[in-house]
Amino acid sequence: MTIPFFPPDLFDGDLLLEVVEEVGLALDQRFILGERTAEFEAVLRDSLGVADAVACGSGTSALTLALQAMGVGPGDEVIVPAYGCAPLASAPLAVGATPVFADVDPWTMVVDPAEVDKLVTGRTKVIMPAHVFSVMADMPALRRIAADAGARLLEDSAVAQGGVLAGRPAGTWGDAGVFSFVQVKTFGMPGEGGMVVTGDPALGRAVRMLRNHGQDGVRRFVHHRVGGNSRFDEVMAAFQLRRFAGLPRRLERRARIGDYYTERFAGLAGRGVLAPPPGRDGRCFYVYSVLAERRDALREHLASRGIGTHVYYRAPLPRQPAFAGHAQPDRDWPAAESAARRQLALPIHPHLTDAQVEHIADEVCRFARHAGPDS
Ligand SMILES: *Cc1c(COP(=O)(O)O)cnc(C)c1O
Repeated sequence: MTIPFFPPDLFDGDLLLEVVEEVGLALDQRFILGERTAEFEAVLRDSLGVADAVACGSGTSALTLALQAMGVGPGDEVIVPAYGCAPLASAPLAVGATPVFADVDPWTMVVDPAEVDKLVTGRTKVIMPAHVFSVMADMPALRRIAADAGARLLEDSAVAQGGVLAGRPAGTWGDAGVFSFVQVKTFGMPGEGGMVVTGDPALGRAVRMLRNHGQDGVRRFVHHRVGGNSRFDEVMAAFQLRRFAGLPRRLERRARIGDYYTERFAGLAGRGVLAPPPGRDGRCFYVYSVLAERRDALREHLASRGIGTHVYYRAPLPRQPAFAGHAQPDRDWPAAESAARRQLALPIHPHLTDAQVEHIADEVCRFARHAGPDS
């Protein structure tokens, strides 16, 4: 049995060909920012109950556009997690601001609100938490900290589409939230794309202008602001519109696989394999990650049984060559360092069969039983 980490057949090829034909054969042949993009934006906006949803070129670009629309620039500080993907550090830098790295929770790997609170200064303009793997950040606490600091809250929900915390959907906790539709994300598609969602209509208008060279969408070639090109692909919008109804079913399959793993791994904490916290509230099941003391040995064991796994971030962001020079030199991030040494992601995509999921869980348990830290 060979189980790849990402399934090779992510998408329905017939559907893809159908939407290429639909857009390509339409009389107006509009390939960017057409009526399907507008409809896709409306569907997300209404499903989340936000004021605006603006489709753009990628999740990374969604973060950058949101920061720009919030007026973030040189001299401003943006508090970001010390553990996570590159755009958390590069988006603030792209607008000339300084990323300030906050350590994470040692178990869930999301940013620790107490650490964020300690880093607030008079220059803090934005607090930018991210949901990580399968756990949403502590948004109620971060909202309070942002409000007390007079800072804006930008929620990186790139991995958390469909997640709900305390009755409130991921993406809607801050002044703005962002999603990514790159292939591997939970609402991935065969191309690049992202979305900014916001309850603030003025912020939405600003993002809308910035994504298309500062134009207002009414008059072309009138540039109100210095913008750029971060437009959305019409074929992808048609594709996402057709797949939106199936998203809850796919998310539920992921969640069930996650529940099963967590149940099977409950007894392994003392044997060097720590599962994420159980439950469904504040969960998103993009990726299922354990923390393993002997991570590389577990990864090799699973590979020898045909199971593909993934190590995401082998170093905290402020230890990356690109960002180290922008990090606070006198600081360290012990929980982020520890996560970088121990994190291992197991397959959780909705195409897995029950037998495959059982096989993966069996092999993790077998490894922990025979090769725990005390053996
Ligand atoms: C994927 C991801 C992004 C970037 O999205 P892209 O569409 O790949 O640019 C940003 N933040 C997080 C947390 C992500 O997982």
